[in-house]
Amino acid sequence: MLKKISLLGATGSIGTQTLDVIRENPEEFKLTAMSVGRNIEEARKMIMEFSPQLISVQRKEDAELLKKEWSSVKVLYGEEGLVEVACHQDADVLVNAVLGSVGLHPTLQAIEAGKMIAIANKETLVTAGHLVMEAARKKNTTLLPVDSEHSAIFQALQGEQEKNIEKLIITASGGSFRDRSREDLVGVTVTEALNHPNWSMGAKITIDSASMMNKGLEVIEAHWLFDIPYDQIEVVQHRESIIHSMIQFHDSSVMAQLGTPDMRVPIQYALTYPDRLIRPGKRLDLVEMGKLHFEEMDLNRFRCLAFAYEAGRIGGSMTTVLNAANEAAVSMFLENKISFLDIEAYIEKAMSTHQVIHRPDLETIHEIDQQTRQLVSSWL
Ligand code: NDP
Ligand code: MG
Repeated sequence: MLKKISLLGATGSIGTQTLDVIRENPEEFKLTAMSVGRNIEEARKMIMEFSPQLISVQRKEDAELLKKEWSSVKVLYGEEGLVEVACHQDADVLVNAVLGSVGLHPTLQAIEAGKMIAIANKETLVTAGHLVMEAARKKNTTLLPVDSEHSAIFQALQGEQEKNIEKLIITASGGSFRDRSREDLVGVTVTEALNHPNWSMGAKITIDSASMMNKGLEVIEAHWLFDIPYDQIEVVQHRESIIHSMIQFHDSSVMAQLGTPDMRVPIQYALTYPDRLIRPGKRLDLVEMGKLHFEEMDLNRFRCLAFAYEAGRIGGSMTTVLNAANEAAVSMFLENKISFLDIEAYIEKAMSTHQVIHRPDLETIHEIDQQTRQLVSSWL
């Protein structure tokens, strides 16, 4: 049966790869609603190719423009627009590939509206995992992970029971600066940080990979998605990004999922689960690979990973602060306003001044998110 998709963040790295999967499988998938940010040029091409019923853009002025150009498409804007796209009446599944905690409210609304959720937007789970998981449990919705590590764990869990998990082993490529010491990080440029060895991704997550915050966010994401305590989540550096993550069970068996690094694989799996579809493209050739490497993560070298474990263990509003401080600091680094090492300094400072609130509600999370961004910006 044709699966109808609403897509948040269509112009992004995950968004365009989701559109690749839809394009490759017109019998299986149809795009019914989508959101973009400011990239109106790409949005025009997407409307022409996919004819969605609804599109939302970030800014009002862009919405006015598109409204004049397309009478057949409903055009909205802003956060309200994101929610409308996420909950579009015809959509069966929401692919949430927007960037940042702006994805939280639309996700909660889509769960409420009974949609299946394929989640790439990890900031949503980091900022308010307890609210998202509670809503999903109430509605009996499975969150289908798109992030490759979590898709790997989800795949390795098929036919298994969560109670038998001893620990999760999340793999990390190490990012752009994996072979540099802390001293070598002084003065690194945005261009150097954006040069990821294995994956081509959006700017923010590429910086997060270089700082290892991406792995930290993924540890928190895994905690919520699989209901696993932090002590049972381990990170291992694996520079080839072939093993996407693993589960160790109580009987000592380890289940892993492997493949060439291509985000369209986990995106497609989330859309076809529990079935699979043929994917064109390269197959994993282990003989060609020859060797796979694994190294211990040094939490003194990668301090953002340590901050994420700390925030996760403290819980409550601390992960909201971790995420908001990181989002704000990474934006400032991308705009060349602060240095690479300032990112972690700002996060540490934001966390150390925060008074934790336990089980914060949506309004509180929104307030803390905004306050943290303002605080971090004020340190410039
Ligand atoms: P990109 O920066 O490539 O894309 C982000 C998308 O969100 C774009 O469509 C952008 O619009 C839109 N957007 C950004 N800010 C806003 C806003 N305030 N309001 C509305 N729309 C907005 O990011 P990625 O695709 O790399 O990542 C998206 C999410 O997926 C992140 O949470 C990331 O951590 C996660 N993820 C990404 C992976 C990857 O391989 N890229 C892997 C695993 C997870 P526009 O460009 O039009 O302005
Ligand atoms: Mg990942």
